[in-house]
Amino acid sequence: MIVAIDGFAATGKSTSAKLIAHELGFTYLDTGAMYRCVTLSFLNNDINLENKLSLIALLEKTEIEFKNRRNENLVFLNGENVSADIRKTEVTSYVSKVSSISEVRNFLVKSQREIAKNYDCVIEGRDIGTVVFPNAEVKFFLVADSQIRAERRHLELLELKEKKSIKTLMEEIQKRDSLDSNRENSPLQKAKDAIEVDTTKMTINSQVEFMVNKVKLITIGK
Ligand code: C5P
Repeated sequence: MIVAIDGFAATGKSTSAKLIAHELGFTYLDTGAMYRCVTLSFLNNDINLENKLSLIALLEKTEIEFKNRRNENLVFLNGENVSADIRKTEVTSYVSKVSSISEVRNFLVKSQREIAKNYDCVIEGRDIGTVVFPNAEVKFFLVADSQIRAERRHLELLELKEKKSIKTLMEEIQKRDSLDSNRENSPLQKAKDAIEVDTTKMTINSQVEFMVNKVKLITIGK
């Protein structure tokens, strides 16, 4: 069974997806982390995005793994723990450009379908309910006020020892949302059958409770 969680940046997708997966005993898959890994790899290898041949060659050598250690979800790129590096500003500001490339999307969508083949999963991203798993049993689409989203990102960055003003973060988030929503390949959009959740005034606990109850309600009759 697949629970798809899509939505704009910093709406609480990751935090709620992790907790929902835990509550339901499902596997959690963060597809944004996969796009971030590819972006980091392109940056580290100085890849010119116009050069499709070198980009494909590097993709073919890219191995992304998720591991859970002491309750922490870690991401490994070709064997190296990049969990902190993929959250840095350099990656965040470049990732939308990289994720608009069809070769990158085809490569990652294939591996997302492969990973989810054998497990019940909670999968978060931008195109999960529309493209990757259009037949997902339950779909959510998260939205929230931009000021709140910038404040949430501000706190996350402080943990990474990065400091940015709320105003700058708001501009960055809006820019990324606009690029993600207006790209040609798999743009961020709400699936027709997705449940919209506005997390502006919700605590993480109430968000998770609401979504878990919905999943239970929808799947009870199936
Ligand atoms: O979720 P997160 O903010 O980590 O995602 C980083 C970026 O990865 C997004 O801004 C988007 O450009 C890209 N992404 C995507 N499709 C997904 C997940 C993420 O294009 N399914």
